Amino acid sequence: MTELAGKVALVTGGSRGIGAAIAERLARDGADVAVTYTSSADRAAEVVRRIEAAGRRGLALAADSADPVALIGAVERVVAGLGGLDILVNNAGIAPYGPFEQVAVEEVDRALAVHARAAFVAAQAAAPHLEGGGRIIGIGSNLAERLPYPGWTLYAMSKSALIGLTKGLARELGPRGVTVNLVQPGSTDTEMNPADSPDADHERALTALGRYARAEEIAATVAHLAGPAGAYITGTAITVDGGFAA
Ligand code: NDP
Repeated sequence: MTELAGKVALVTGGSRGIGAAIAERLARDGADVAVTYTSSADRAAEVVRRIEAAGRRGLALAADSADPVALIGAVERVVAGLGGLDILVNNAGIAPYGPFEQVAVEEVDRALAVHARAAFVAAQAAAPHLEGGGRIIGIGSNLAERLPYPGWTLYAMSKSALIGLTKGLARELGPRGVTVNLVQPGSTDTEMNPADSPDADHERALTALGRYARAEEIAATVAHLAGPAGAYITGTAITVDGGFAA
């Protein structure tokens, strides 16, 4: 497909998992794609190789989303290196887990920084470069909609912030023809949440479809929002969770 031909995308946390699947899908749809990562330089380079194999330009940048200077620098390097920015996907994420009484305040700060503040800062850095047809797409979580077990309070809180951010940014950027949306995955088979982990059967049982998502199924919804078919969708969240929230 070439419906994203001429577009430039940045996917934060694109070295593996859902972010890598999004990066590769956007490249197959015609976009040049940059990814950020924190530690997996080799994995990010492999994603770039697959982007280039799809005939597009790729770029891998080490940038901790919790560091605003690094994150803003990454946005600027994408604009300089790939000639602009049309699609920002705020995907980088971590999975803090545990009884909330035992969560250290540093963990609270880190989760809010990686999930919420980073999405805000990256949007601020990207906004001046986004023209009509531009896209900002967040990766939230279905646990912001329904949280049927304990231990995920911090994670859900940090992901819930993206719902408000999405609505606010949609209002701020709508007049410029830029759409802003949130994709909320459910249990998706990645290193963060392997489908063969001890807890996986419990998660599977809470879905209507009785299975985990493949990362490519999350990427497909992101691609829909990024492409021309998504042009009239803005300020909303799409939950892709196999019926977990039903
Ligand atoms: P993975 O742990 O498999 O991959 C995480 C990716 O994010 C890696 O590329 C990692 O880079 C990068 N990353 C982590 N922290 C940072 C940071 N501070 N700055 C920049 N990059 C970072 O996770 P998933 O692919 O499963 O998750 C992707 C997103 O989807 C996350 O936001 C997650 O919360 C969300 N999600 C996942 C679900 C699931 O079941 N898997 C369900 C619901 C939401 P590196 O390789 O260098 O560590």
